[in-house]
Amino acid sequence: MYANVSLFIDGAWTAAVSGRTLTVMNPATGEPLGTVAHAEIPDLDRALAAAEKGFAVWKKVSAYERSKVMRKAAGLIRERVDMIADLMTQEQGKPLVEAKGELMAGADVIEWFAEEARRAYGRVIPARAEGVYQLVIKEPVGPVAAFTPWNFPINQAVRKISAALAAGCSVILKGPEETPASCAELVRAYADAGLPAGAVQLVYGVPAEISGYLIPHPVIKKMSFTGSTAVGKQLAALAGLHMKRATMELGGHAPAIVFDDADIDVASKILATNKFRNAGQVCVSPTRFLVQESVYENFVAKFVKVAEGVKVGNGLDPASTMGPLANPRRVTAMEGFIADAVQKGATVKTGGKRIGNVGNFFEPTVLSDLTLDMRVMNEEPFGPLALMVPFKSFDDVVAEANRLPYGLAAYAYTRSAKTANAIAAAVESGMMSINHHGLALPEVPFGGIKDSGYGSEGGLEAMEAYLNTKFVTQAGL
Ligand code: NAD
Repeated sequence: MYANVSLFIDGAWTAAVSGRTLTVMNPATGEPLGTVAHAEIPDLDRALAAAEKGFAVWKKVSAYERSKVMRKAAGLIRERVDMIADLMTQEQGKPLVEAKGELMAGADVIEWFAEEARRAYGRVIPARAEGVYQLVIKEPVGPVAAFTPWNFPINQAVRKISAALAAGCSVILKGPEETPASCAELVRAYADAGLPAGAVQLVYGVPAEISGYLIPHPVIKKMSFTGSTAVGKQLAALAGLHMKRATMELGGHAPAIVFDDADIDVASKILATNKFRNAGQVCVSPTRFLVQESVYENFVAKFVKVAEGVKVGNGLDPASTMGPLANPRRVTAMEGFIADAVQKGATVKTGGKRIGNVGNFFEPTVLSDLTLDMRVMNEEPFGPLALMVPFKSFDDVVAEANRLPYGLAAYAYTRSAKTANAIAAAVESGMMSINHHGLALPEVPFGGIKDSGYGSEGGLEAMEAYLNTKFVTQAGL
């Protein structure tokens, strides 16, 4: 069952003041699933007042108590995993097993930040004079505006909410309008765990209207956005204009580098499996497969075999290993990238087409014979497209890996420790995973450089983003 989704403001689930709603579609059937409340300025004003009040309350709750509430929320997510995963698959399309994995990972994120809440240490700096104490104190930055997308309805939101709450901030989350119900269940778990009214608000509406109102608003002290680079640049500019702290988790075009000494069976299997996870709608998805010439044919053949073994279907069917794309825009985008590449000389090794005409299903696709003038070699595909590109030397592959303005994730496969060290140092990216797929755990940094954004959504750095540093120096009387 899919219930209509409300706003959550000042501890209560509520319709929009105007009564307006937006329709939520099922990407597997193309049919409407339900509705989500559409917030406008009067709703945002209520959310801002609640966030201001909620911050005054939550920042005074001890870190010990904050941590207890958060751990309870993690427990509720785990208890409700089947119900929420079902909602997520209906609205987002991903296979149930991926939805459940996302929820369990989300519970881990909450728990990790719950633990970190109690370790938001400051420090004492040795003074130059006797009787002087120099203290560095960490304080919550204040009410936060967070904006999260539809590809991971829980995991994009949980990292922002949980780091903010752990630090003692209140939050207004603008959730994903296309996948609102599972994101709302995250907020419900927090509310049911005993979060005080006003600590978290959840709104949906027209993204540009909400960000344009919240980011400049004097109540909001920090913003955090996950989405495309184009939108991120606009929001970063707005945040800068109003001197608001900002975290930007934006797009990528990850190079996956396979050297001739790599274990090709392992590399092709891990990389292909990760390429088609969430139908490629993942910011750290491996995209440009840069493969050393002597192993190129072997790697491509093995990769294509994995791609052809992917079972595309409704995510509610346990046999499906890849669901539909989350919205019709992505199908149009895939068709555009492929048509442009083929017209400029690319070869479709497998896939390349939409499947049927009901829902947003698309074939896992592998392209070769690519040239740099093709759009897909420059723009983030954000879908099930794998680009095969041979390379000759270490210097050549580094130049290609760093050619684009993106710098989020990168991958490399080699049996040489020397090559592993050298490639980790040479590639311009926020994250590098070598000989396995090891990104996105709560305890490790997660974020990009260059046009992929700034700030981190994992590890100690993620908490820092929600804390002010105050220096206090005190002399004895
Ligand atoms: P889009 O650029 O319109 O939107 C991307 C996200 O930003 C959505 O969640 C949207 O609600 C939000 N958004 C858009 N304009 C906004 C604004 N002015 N203020 C606040 N939020 C705003 O594109 P889309 O069609 O939804 O997604 C396609 C592209 O977005 C992809 O190609 C990919 O590059 C990027 N994307 C990235 C991630 C990620 O995890 N980094 C997630 C989703 C989408």
